[in-house]
Amino acid sequence: MRIAVIGAGPAGLLLGAALARRGHGVVAVDRDPGPPVTGRWERHGVMQFHHAHGFRAQVAEVLAEQWPQALTTWMALGAEPIVFDLPGVGPVAGAYRSRRDTFERALRATSLDVPGLSVRRGHVDDVLFWGGRVRGLLVDGSRLEADLVVDASGRSGRAADGLRAPSTVGGPCGMAYVDRQYRLRAGAEPGPMANPLAWQADFDGYQCIVFLHERGYFSVLIVRPTADAALKDLRHRGAFEAACRAIPGLSEWTDPGRAAPVTEVVPGGPLRNVYRTQRGVDGSPVVPGLVSVGDSVATTTPTFGRGVATTFTQVRALLELLDSDRDPALVGEPFEAWCEQNMLPWVLDHMQMDGELVRRWEGGDVDLSRRLPSDLILAAAARDPRINEVTPGYVGMYRLPSSLDPVEPLARAVYETGWRPPYSPGPGRGELVEIVSAAIRRAPAVAASSA
Ligand SMILES: Cc1cc2nc3c(=O)[nH]c(=O)nc-3n(C[C@H](O)[C@H](O)[C@H](O)COP(=O)(O)OP(=O)(O)OC[C@H]3O[C@@H](n4cnc5c(N)ncnc54)[C@H](O)[C@@H]3O)c2cc1C
Repeated sequence: MRIAVIGAGPAGLLLGAALARRGHGVVAVDRDPGPPVTGRWERHGVMQFHHAHGFRAQVAEVLAEQWPQALTTWMALGAEPIVFDLPGVGPVAGAYRSRRDTFERALRATSLDVPGLSVRRGHVDDVLFWGGRVRGLLVDGSRLEADLVVDASGRSGRAADGLRAPSTVGGPCGMAYVDRQYRLRAGAEPGPMANPLAWQADFDGYQCIVFLHERGYFSVLIVRPTADAALKDLRHRGAFEAACRAIPGLSEWTDPGRAAPVTEVVPGGPLRNVYRTQRGVDGSPVVPGLVSVGDSVATTTPTFGRGVATTFTQVRALLELLDSDRDPALVGEPFEAWCEQNMLPWVLDHMQMDGELVRRWEGGDVDLSRRLPSDLILAAAARDPRINEVTPGYVGMYRLPSSLDPVEPLARAVYETGWRPPYSPGPGRGELVEIVSAAIRRAPAVAASSA
């Protein structure tokens, strides 16, 4: 079968390599030229590329099954497995430390050696459709014919918009963030960690996360409500550094004796939780010859680091369907059923968590009139440890958010006592605004130059 893939990001490359390994002829088209031999890979059009990423166990699990050479390359480039010793199971890698840049360089480099897969630089202008089915792509004005077209164009891809129904679930999540990458100095130990992948602290009105990557690299994130214009100035170097000095935990991580910045402060683009079906613009359940996968189906806010795991589990499910003897041109229909059951719940979970968190950041209380959001169910385990009996499956993403339903009443009982998750020690939102404003007053030139 001839397969044309829109996008050579994680979804497009994994699916393309796995299908080529099954004997299909695959062309993945991406407007990005790929990593330069030396220097920074800009990766325009994938705004999250230079932002913090943590990688869940599923990412390596699916690579090991479908494209083991890419996993080997990723490890050789420095990815660090975080090993947990599970009682009765033994040591297992539960997550991976790596920068996104390192991860994608591994995929791109390995793709060069996959017979049957070619990665072509070009812009997909349109999807070719006639006679009731998709026939290929229009790439920079030239036709690329195919028996199956895969839309792996990510959260901002538009190439298949003429045929795909727009998303009807989700939208902006109400959160924005800035981050900056640092590297530990030689011999320096990491700062405090909340779990093996990250440190996280919740304050009255905002949140901080440190993601530890490979080889001592780490990213510092400050997350705030999008509507909080006063904290927008955190994108300026002086304000960001002042905030880091004032927030316990961040001050330890970013202590100049421990670490040095390796990037500027980078403001994130709009964060969204979105689910998009395989349906056609005419309402048909599937567009014959077209299937969509990855972020172009389900996008979640990055605070739980779920995107590449959901992308790769989608690829695995799609491959299973393509391996069966059903008509590949109609694979979108069973895949849609799978995504509705297995992906949509994660988007809905984030929509509720993020919406409620922003509301609480803005002064609201825990809403006991409806099911508690999953993060509040997890937090209540601090008061009722029985909740922990079901949470590992959800936290590891091996069970859907509904797996928390049986313990929701236990969490609810905790909140009904008036207990609320305590804030981490550090400046509240009002104090942080003052710190940011003072820094901007002290260094207006820095603010102007990095605006
Ligand atoms: C700020 C942020 C932080 C994140 N952090 C994490 C994290 O910590 N852990 C995690 O697991 N996930 C994280 N994610 C999610 C993760 O980045 C995505 O799930 C992942 O990139 C999805 O891969 P993809 O291949 O579907 O899409 P993309 O990575 O977006 O790739 C799509 C590709 O399609 C190409 N393309 C699009 N349109 C065209 C066209 N018309 N012609 C040619 N090429 C085209 C693009 O150039 C791009 O290469 C984060 C996301 C964001 C926004």
